[in-house]
Amino acid sequence: MIDDAIRVLAGDCTVIAEADDRSEYRGRVTTIVKPDNTVLVHDIDGYQPVAWLTRADSVSSDRAGDFTLVAKKDTQTLRIAAHDQDGFAHYPASAAGTPVGTCQNENCAGELVRSKGVHCVDCGTRYGIPTDATIKDDQSYCDCGLPRMRVERGLAFDVCLDRNCESLDEAVREAFDREWDCPESNCDGDLRILRRGGLIAGCEHYPECDTGFAMPAGVVDGECDCGLPTFETHGGTRCLDATCDRAVARHVEAAGDD
Ligand SMILES: [Zn+2]
Ligand SMILES: [Zn+2]
Ligand SMILES: [Zn+2]
Ligand SMILES: [Zn+2]
Repeated sequence: MIDDAIRVLAGDCTVIAEADDRSEYRGRVTTIVKPDNTVLVHDIDGYQPVAWLTRADSVSSDRAGDFTLVAKKDTQTLRIAAHDQDGFAHYPASAAGTPVGTCQNENCAGELVRSKGVHCVDCGTRYGIPTDATIKDDQSYCDCGLPRMRVERGLAFDVCLDRNCESLDEAVREAFDREWDCPESNCDGDLRILRRGGLIAGCEHYPECDTGFAMPAGVVDGECDCGLPTFETHGGTRCLDATCDRAVARHVEAAGDD
């Protein structure tokens, strides 16, 4: 997030932390204020801050009074007064993530990193990706230059980070649209691949039939006794229908055989 900043105050400071009790420190310290208003005061000893306040309700840095920074949260207050400032500045800051490739925007060759989504450290361009998507070191690259991610939705799909370039939804639809029958006994519908928040396999006769299942993060590895496919997921084998106990029962049985 390129519009976020970390504030840093360095110098000879008095630090007063007040909650139920009061502690006062003096030293040449560096205070960091994170975008979520967490305040960390570091001296040279150890790795722990001398004083801190996590996610303060407010952090003011106006120079009213003698204090340069005042952070407040409920009954806690952290005041930092700089007697001699070595520096007081805002620095642009972003989430740190694993490097996955190079930004392909015009005039930008910034590093793309994966944290929650994928973003460019230089221009801030973001790509929202499923949380279970993996981007490997030896990933293939799309013709557009962006890395591809692997997402398991019945099969393992390798698609471009940019959904406008290669659509995961389209790939899943191509593979599984109308592939499975609606399991309702009095319904002859097919399950269509649709996006309702996440990807679902839902009955074509909606709203007369409201049968629908979220597509599990896994690959199809067989058929459940109920007729729906089973998926191999991180949590084990499960039915497309998360509430179906037949796949679970069989899984437990299989585990018991070991
Ligand atoms: Zn960029
Ligand atoms: Zn692409
Ligand atoms: Zn149906
Ligand atoms: Zn089942």
